[in-house]
Amino acid sequence: MIFEQVRSGGCLSYLIGCEETRAAVLVDPELGLLDRYLALATEKGLRARYVLDTHTHADHFSASRELGQKLGAHVVMSRRSAAPYVDLRLEGGDTLIVGKLRLRIHETPGHTDDSLCVELPDRVLTGDTLLIGGTGRTDLPTGDAAALHGSLFDGLLRLDPRLLVYPAHDYKGRTHSTLGTEIAENPRLQRSERAAFVELMQSLDIAMPQHLTEALRTNRTGGKTVQQLIAEASRAITFVSMRDAATQIEQAAPSLVVLDVREREAFRTKRLPSARNVPRGELELRANQELPDPTARILVYCQFGKISTLAAQTLRVLGYTRAVALDGGFEAWTQHGLPTEGESR
Ligand code: FE
Repeated sequence: MIFEQVRSGGCLSYLIGCEETRAAVLVDPELGLLDRYLALATEKGLRARYVLDTHTHADHFSASRELGQKLGAHVVMSRRSAAPYVDLRLEGGDTLIVGKLRLRIHETPGHTDDSLCVELPDRVLTGDTLLIGGTGRTDLPTGDAAALHGSLFDGLLRLDPRLLVYPAHDYKGRTHSTLGTEIAENPRLQRSERAAFVELMQSLDIAMPQHLTEALRTNRTGGKTVQQLIAEASRAITFVSMRDAATQIEQAAPSLVVLDVREREAFRTKRLPSARNVPRGELELRANQELPDPTARILVYCQFGKISTLAAQTLRVLGYTRAVALDGGFEAWTQHGLPTEGESR
């Protein structure tokens, strides 16, 4: 078995492959590491057949859908998962075959209602059901402390104590543990009585994860994150550095249109020299009248350099093939002490 753990901050994902057939499964991949998984699979000579999420993540963006499409792999989740893009839905007792490997599926609701644990002959991927020295929280949507108690004490903890434990999170740099060690030492598992365990879980006061609503929205629907939209747009256009832009504006480069896509008020107050204003929200509707020359060099900028990326991509789609975005927004422009004009100078 080829077994690779990929760490990104406190999030752990896994690439598990069959040595003989080179078939593989990716578990809990994260969107920010998309290229790393693709490169790792290539490096190890593996072909991912499945992309599996142990549950609907609330704290990071799942790469399952993207990877499934890119790799031609099936997206695998619990039968209880809300995500509509799941190809194969699992239930407890199912075995997922990956080459010569056999992954035994356990349904372990509690952290979420769609939590799974994945058992291999010598180890178990515990998702957020069991962590090293802890358990997943139960206070996020579909969480249930009593259900987690049942999943642990009537399920997972009854497996062979020698099994290695590989969780979906660890914030202290540890790679794995064993079930036996957790049963003996994990503070939360010392409260084996249901009511005491539930009380303990309900008394935890944990901060809400960053990006909670966006993560649940995109992971449950297969929609895109804002970051993803901007990253895709930035791959479809080119940029101009602030220094080059300043030179081109100063020299009044022929057919250069400097386009400010911020709101009118911001534009009126302070802007790049010779800039014109079409707010992002009006761009498509006013393009014909404001930008009659499709061959013009259009330099787009906004306040922080993100909206301008989307706007420049939109212009390219409309046929303005020389539209570029300023690398850095108006904010950075002024911080660099580059020239501006406007009502308050
Ligand atoms: Fe989680």
